[in-house]
Amino acid sequence: MKILISDAFDASLPAKLERFGEITEDKGRLAEVDVVLVRSKTKCRREYIDEAANLKLIVRGGVGLDNIDVEYARSKGVRVYNTASASAIAVAEMAFALMLAVPTRLCEAHLSMREGRWAKKELKRTELFGKTLGLIGAGNIGTEVGRRAAAFGMQVLAYDPLVKSHEIAKLVPLTELFEQADYLSIHVPLTNDTKGMINRETIAAMKDGVVIVNTARGQCVVEEDLAEALASGKVRGYGTDVWYSDPPDQSCPLLTAPNVVMSPHIGASSVENMQRIGEVVVKILEDFEQQIA
Ligand code: NAD
Repeated sequence: MKILISDAFDASLPAKLERFGEITEDKGRLAEVDVVLVRSKTKCRREYIDEAANLKLIVRGGVGLDNIDVEYARSKGVRVYNTASASAIAVAEMAFALMLAVPTRLCEAHLSMREGRWAKKELKRTELFGKTLGLIGAGNIGTEVGRRAAAFGMQVLAYDPLVKSHEIAKLVPLTELFEQADYLSIHVPLTNDTKGMINRETIAAMKDGVVIVNTARGQCVVEEDLAEALASGKVRGYGTDVWYSDPPDQSCPLLTAPNVVMSPHIGASSVENMQRIGEVVVKILEDFEQQIA
C-alpha cells in the first residue's frame, strides 16, 4: 500500500511504516495513495477526498476529527480513525500547566525577572488548593485533569451529558458548574453545541473572578466576549493552548487581553506523546492490513 504522511509525526514513524509499503511525504501524490496520515494541519474536506481517488483510510494522529469531513469520507468508502486516548496525559499536563500559571503569575514573574525588576511585592498570588474545578467534558483528557486537580486538593465537579458516573468528579448540571467553579477547564469536542459555549451570557452565569483554561478548541469561546470579561475582571485569567485558527489572526483580542497565558497548540506535542501516537498509528495499519487481506 502507498502511505502519505501529510503532517508532522514523530521522526521515527516513516521507518516503522516501511513494512506496510511505500511511504511518501510528497503531498502532490495524493491521488495515488491508499492511506493518508494527518494531524491537524491537513484539512480533509470534500475536495481533498475527491482528489484522493485511491484513498481507503485516513488516520488522524490526535483526538478531534474536526479537520476531516468524516461523513463524506465514509460515504466514499474511506475509513477514518483517530488515536483517541493516546494524547490524554500530554494534554492534561498542558491544561494543568496553564491552570497553575495563572494563579502563580508565573509568566509575569518570569518576565519581570528578565526585565531586571524585583516584583516580589506586586505579584500577589493565590493557590489551587481548596478551590473548585469545573470540568466541561469528562472524557479522556478531562478525567486526567480531574485526577491531577484532586491530587492538588481541589474539589472536582464536571458537566458532561454523556457521562453517567465518574470516578473523580461529582457530575452536576452546567448551571451548577458555572455557579460553583473557581476554575473551569474545557475538554469537549468542537460541535454545534460546544461552538461559542463560553460567551457573554454563560460568562455572566459564572463566579466573579473565575479562571478559564482551554485546551479543547479555540472556537469553544467567543473571543470578543471573553476579552471583555478579562478586561472587566469578571474572568480573572484565561489559559489557552487553542485558537480560532492556527496561528491566530493578529487581530485576535485575546492576544492583548489582560491575564492571558497562552501557548501555540502544543498540548499534544510532547515527545512521549508523538511516540505514543506513532505506536497507535502502526496498530491501526496492522488492523487495516488484515481487514483488506
Ligand atoms: P473524549 O471524547 O474522551 O471526551 C470528550 C467528552 O466531551 C465526552 O465525554 C463527551 O461526552 C463530552 N461532551 C461532548 N459534548 C459536550 C457538551 N456539549 N458539554 C459537555 N461535555 C460534552 O475526548 P478527549 O480526548 O478528552 O479530548 C477532548 C478534546 O480536546 C478533543 O475533542 C479536542 O478538541 C481537544 N484536544 C486538544 C489537543 C491539544 O493539542 N490542545 C489535543 C487533543 C485533543
